[in-house]
Amino acid sequence: MKAVQFHGHGETDVIAYEEAPDPAVGRNDVLVDIEAGALNHLDIWTRRGLPGLDLEMPHVPGSDGAGVVLEVGDGVSRFEPGDHVALSAGVSCGECEFCRDGEESMCTNYHIIGEHVSGVHSELASIPEDNLVLVPDHVDWETAAAAPLVFQTAWRMLVTRADLSPGETVLVLGASGGVGHAAVQIADYAGAEVIATASSEEKLAYAAEIGADHAIDYESENFASAVRELTGKRGVDVVVDHIGAATWQDSLRSLAKGGRLVTCGATTGPNPETDIRRIFWNQLSVIGSTMGTPGEVDDVLSLVWDGTFDVRVRDVLPMSETATAHDMIENREGFGKVVVVPDGEY
Ligand code: ZN
Repeated sequence: MKAVQFHGHGETDVIAYEEAPDPAVGRNDVLVDIEAGALNHLDIWTRRGLPGLDLEMPHVPGSDGAGVVLEVGDGVSRFEPGDHVALSAGVSCGECEFCRDGEESMCTNYHIIGEHVSGVHSELASIPEDNLVLVPDHVDWETAAAAPLVFQTAWRMLVTRADLSPGETVLVLGASGGVGHAAVQIADYAGAEVIATASSEEKLAYAAEIGADHAIDYESENFASAVRELTGKRGVDVVVDHIGAATWQDSLRSLAKGGRLVTCGATTGPNPETDIRRIFWNQLSVIGSTMGTPGEVDDVLSLVWDGTFDVRVRDVLPMSETATAHDMIENREGFGKVVVVPDGEY
């Protein structure tokens, strides 16, 4: 089969689309004929390499993908050949105290398919049954591939971790990215007033189209000052921040007293300065969140499959142009998800 892979970490020139061995199908695995995959910021980190990330090379990336079941292992009970399925990339042990408590994304052995182990950006992928969700036949491949990672992440951030209530005000940073565009829709669905930031008129218009009540161009004005103005100096109840160092201080400045900052990423760096006085005096909460539990995945994807949430796709590329897809994400071009399909399907 053909697969996207890299033999070492580095810039985008390490990414190849080349012949690779067909995957082995274990007892609890499902062999999937991949129709589409989607990129996440995670793919950039994995390609560059992270401290403590020791990958077997060559590495096949890809934490989002969807396709048709070709074959199932003897131990598989939920799927059969012909089913449409999508990957949900979080792998948990099922045995630690957090798994036993239904908090699988806090598993002490938690890892992510495509980041820590071989991913699905290839013509064929062998995927553990527990990491697949059934996709209704009417759902297109781009939606099926692009929804799972970012929608479960945004759902857990807002619904579970930040415990968002109707009538609250939410600031979503970077509304044009995968998590951002999911968070805008989920916050709107939950009955919140949504303020979104983006970097161009076109992206701000998209943010409004999918549910933002107000949109701030963070290139032309300081978003914390704009938030103060929009909220009559009060601030917002919840900030969704996946940007990190570049936005952290203004995220904290944007919060009302008792507000919650929920973070799932640090694309601009992990070590911002923090004024601790702002946190205790204003009684703020800083909340971390990663991926989602199987229950959260089911809850949010049912709302994607029925059309409540709209997965925006900025571009579809053949897998041989994955390097271009990385550039698009790093340069923050476009709105929504970048999808890749096996060259034979393009
Ligand atoms: Zn566990």
